[in-house]
Amino acid sequence: MHLNYLMPTRIIMGEKCVINQRNLFSTLGKKAFVVTGKKSARINGAYDDVAKVLETNGQDHVLYDQVMANPTDICVCEAGKIAREQHCDFVIAIGGGSPMDAAKAAAVLAVNDISKEDLFTLAFRKALPIIAIPTTSGTGSETTQYSVLVDTTETDGITPRTNGPAKRSISTPLLFPHIALLDAVYIKDLNRDITVNTAIDALSHAIEGMLTLRANHISDMLAKESIAMILDCMDALLAFPGNPSSFPLEKREKLLLSSTVAGMVIAQSGTATPHSMGYQFTLNWGTDHGRANGLLMKSFLLWCQEKEKSIKKDNPFFTLRIPVLCTALGMNLDKFVNLIEQLLGQREKASKTEIDTWSTLPMKNAANTYVQPNTEEIGRIFRESVG
Ligand code: NAP
Ligand code: FE
Repeated sequence: MHLNYLMPTRIIMGEKCVINQRNLFSTLGKKAFVVTGKKSARINGAYDDVAKVLETNGQDHVLYDQVMANPTDICVCEAGKIAREQHCDFVIAIGGGSPMDAAKAAAVLAVNDISKEDLFTLAFRKALPIIAIPTTSGTGSETTQYSVLVDTTETDGITPRTNGPAKRSISTPLLFPHIALLDAVYIKDLNRDITVNTAIDALSHAIEGMLTLRANHISDMLAKESIAMILDCMDALLAFPGNPSSFPLEKREKLLLSSTVAGMVIAQSGTATPHSMGYQFTLNWGTDHGRANGLLMKSFLLWCQEKEKSIKKDNPFFTLRIPVLCTALGMNLDKFVNLIEQLLGQREKASKTEIDTWSTLPMKNAANTYVQPNTEEIGRIFRESVG
């Protein structure tokens, strides 16, 4: 057995953990660069708690609250420039995956002289330390080394940018947050769509993580635990109450932790083909990231099941993964995809031209998938999902 495991983020979970851990903030420097989305961090109390802690500690801060959903390279370059000019010592990310990813990029841009054009290609040598405070329960960005951004530059021939800006990642161990602080209270008013879609994102990280070439024994163990926690919340998700704050807090906690653990999975394994495919829905239709993955999950998993059986016939040494996944799910694929169908409701529909165009685009994560779909098979998965 070969293993290589790195996840250096300190995880602290619990009610009022931001306030209670104020001493940890003071170890990171005199001035913080606080990164949030446009509204929610003020409404859910996370920004107030952080500001209070910094003030009590005698630390200054600069607030950057302009991060949009699916942050662009332009946005993170602006944030990085402000952090550099303001001589910030560390970064505090508050929000969903979008502000956390933007904050991570700003943390490297603040201390590396790199232009927007070189953002996705040059190596970074250092980064400011990051404290991540997730306020959605899906991306797990608080425990990954990735920052997923929209590339607004002209296509470079590798990236699928034929009909819009492409989603690309920066990936370096420097981007693992120093500390992740998880308090489900910040998440308690998250509406039905964001709660469900981010839960599907976390589930897709755990499931896709098990179906990659980089999956290992530790990432599989984490994936199984994350899947179990999310499935334990499935009934509550299906019966989401009219008032989001009536969604049980212990389920919110479980979803939050499952997402952090699923982040630990993809930090090792990366994601599989659906993540790359789903970016097309997000870029072209504005579909939430988690829902985009969910739309592809059924067809992708059923295709994997069929494909791996045919590979096994020719190669007795090939290891089947879908039966291992089904053991983790505690049910067969048909039953599982039926649950996902219920969460998704009415599916979006793509035109034939859209599907034909997307099917020919390079799908970066396909190369990391344990069974790799060709162009025709990607077209089939798109058609079955949104055709
Ligand atoms: P998001 O884009 O961060 O946030 C979605 C919406 O939720 C925003 O309108 C936000 O409002 C709102 N919101 C956030 N916290 C809230 C709260 N506590 N209460 C009420 N509303 C709240 O969505 P996300 O799904 O968490 O992140 C998606 C991004 O993460 C995508 O760009 C995706 O590619 C990326 N991602 C990254 C990784 C990784 O490893 N780095 C993994 C998976 C996905 P405000 O804008 O006002 O805050
Ligand atoms: Fe994701």
